[in-house]
Amino acid sequence: MPSPTWDSLWVNVNLASMAPGAGPYGAITGAALAVAGDRIAWLGRMADLPGAPATLARVVHDGAGRWMTPGLIDCHTHLVFGGDRAREFELRLGGASYEEVARAGGGIVSTVRATREASEDELLATARARLAGFLREGVTTIEVKSGYGLATEAELKMLRVARRLGDIRPVAVATSFLGAHALPPEFAGRQGAYVDLVCDEMLPAVAASGLADAVDAFCETIAFTPEETTRIFTVATRLGLRVKLHADQLADLGGAALAAGFGALSADHLEYTSAASVRAMAGPGTVAVLLPGANYFLRERQMPPVAAFREAGVPIAIASNCNPGSAPVLSLLLMLSMAATLFRLTPEEALAGVTREAARALGLADRGILAPGMRADLALWDIEEPAELAYWIGRNPCRAVVSGGVLRETPA
Ligand SMILES: [Zn+2]
Repeated sequence: MPSPTWDSLWVNVNLASMAPGAGPYGAITGAALAVAGDRIAWLGRMADLPGAPATLARVVHDGAGRWMTPGLIDCHTHLVFGGDRAREFELRLGGASYEEVARAGGGIVSTVRATREASEDELLATARARLAGFLREGVTTIEVKSGYGLATEAELKMLRVARRLGDIRPVAVATSFLGAHALPPEFAGRQGAYVDLVCDEMLPAVAASGLADAVDAFCETIAFTPEETTRIFTVATRLGLRVKLHADQLADLGGAALAAGFGALSADHLEYTSAASVRAMAGPGTVAVLLPGANYFLRERQMPPVAAFREAGVPIAIASNCNPGSAPVLSLLLMLSMAATLFRLTPEEALAGVTREAARALGLADRGILAPGMRADLALWDIEEPAELAYWIGRNPCRAVVSGGVLRETPA
């Protein structure tokens, strides 16, 4: 008898492959999926398996009729940070003004201070604890931004912590340098000088370190102007780094179009994005990353132009935006629910938004759908139909996760 050629084989599963053009969810029922090394080797109907399962793979897992999806991808987080802002949340709910919150030590400046003061190991420990919940929900790739150091060495420290997370936990980490997140207090009144620092010192240091997969910026009335963002993106592009942008969250500054002009991987938030900007995004395929957790937490009234994205063929991803100030979100599944309920995405669009389209938003062509040759990042769910992933609020039906071909957990 020939020796098995596959490392593992999942039988009796229903696949939501998310492959485009393959019908709702790219579904294949009564299916099997084979893994060789860190790749998907084969998938199809059980009836089409080329032999008896035990002869085909060294390990056979019975999925017992459960659904399997691509491992989930959270394409926008600020997972690494010092301290938290729960006290500020309490003060604001009690009616405190912005100034009172700031006087009490709140605001982004407090996170910058806590992040600068924390050691690399301390930042790693708190980020690892926050990551745990995402991993239990089937997340196999997560993006992590810098942006609370706001000084060269502190930004590099954050990026090193993000990389180390991917070394010590079974998850792929994509990093983004977000030096233009906020103005550090020592540069108050000298925003131009800080942008000089980002362009002349931070970006070259980050590029040389190899610690960042992309460059991000916060283009907003309360942050950096379109002109400053353009300067930063010009330098980033010259250094060979892809860009993405926090854009049009509180006002329409044309940020999404600006990003698209640089061939950005994604433009994120987009509550106020104009019809012209939506059209601009369609050309280079810039992904619209929607962040319903921040929309909810800030109690925004303005919703992103989802119908316009659909009409223009702009891919839509959704993400947790996990951060201490505007989205203390530790559940990507909850974002599926919020994307459906707040933004009117269909459950299928919501699932595509944390698989296929999230992969595009990170420029990762080797994951996000189930197909031969793709990374074997898989999640197995105790559900009757895929829509349940967006339907339940606060339920985690994940029963197994495979990350890069390795079965990493099987919760009860
Ligand atoms: Zn963000």
